[in-house]
Amino acid sequence: MNSSPPKLVTTVAQLREELRAVRRAGKRIGLVPTMGALHEGHLSLVRAAAAECDYSVVSIYVNPSQFGPSEDLAKYPRTLHNDLALLAGCRTDLVFAPSDGEVYPRGHATWVEVGPVAAPLEGACRPGHFRGVATVVLKLFNMVQPDAAYFGQKDYQQALVIRRMAADLDVPVAVRVCPIVREPDGLAMSSRNRYLSPTARQRALVLWKGLQLAQELAAGGERNAAVIATRMREIIETAADARIDYIALVDPETLAPVDVVAGQTLVALAVKIENTRLIDNCLLEPGRLS
Ligand code: AMP
Repeated sequence: MNSSPPKLVTTVAQLREELRAVRRAGKRIGLVPTMGALHEGHLSLVRAAAAECDYSVVSIYVNPSQFGPSEDLAKYPRTLHNDLALLAGCRTDLVFAPSDGEVYPRGHATWVEVGPVAAPLEGACRPGHFRGVATVVLKLFNMVQPDAAYFGQKDYQQALVIRRMAADLDVPVAVRVCPIVREPDGLAMSSRNRYLSPTARQRALVLWKGLQLAQELAAGGERNAAVIATRMREIIETAADARIDYIALVDPETLAPVDVVAGQTLVALAVKIENTRLIDNCLLEPGRLS
């Protein structure tokens, strides 16, 4: 295993220079876009890229345009040194960590708006979020020109938005979505988990408990989406300070709400615990479970 830190570049010119020879050699390039503060969830994407591609690029950029005015942009963890050390343990060839001025030079005025799939759930709670995400990811696609790009199911809707964007704008990239990596007790790994105090960290398990309950109910034959959502709400509200943004049972492709769990159904939730907003999701497969 390669244990030397990956090469770090911070400008688009350096990035293109590095990639020129790689592309000329006919290598398959994988891109893993991240905001840093890396954990095993990110590293699972890096490993998937390394397994499928000849050359892997990890971008580390806390994209201001996807944060709302009252969100955690200023306090978002920035741990580049540690991130590079973690990436040294996986096979990463290049890290691209640009500045805001590099990504959004003075005069930047073009934005990507994705249609209906960006509207509900995170789109409704975080106006402008997906416009920022789609724009920065398209820019990264144009900068790196990867053959494949790796995203986590943890941000299910984000992956759907990016798939739509890449298809609609004819970006020749294979969008891969990798499974959610969880802590041993079930909490989905997230850079934001480090905001949680030890007691809030325990209360945050209600998200996972809610999703597990949904799985159990569906496996036991419950098909009424409202019943499942209500039971989930009850379990989540056992955490005294839980503030639920949404608990949604939706079609996994369109994100339209479902009343009856007839086919594969996405259960998605966003909950604030101690002011930290956490998201998680799972897929119900009624055909397979019952
Ligand atoms: P972020 O740094 O939060 O923007 O995440 C970068 C990528 O890592 C996104 O595609 C996320 O969906 C993915 N990711 C974050 N957490 C996890 C996790 N627990 N399991 C799998 N992928 C994840």
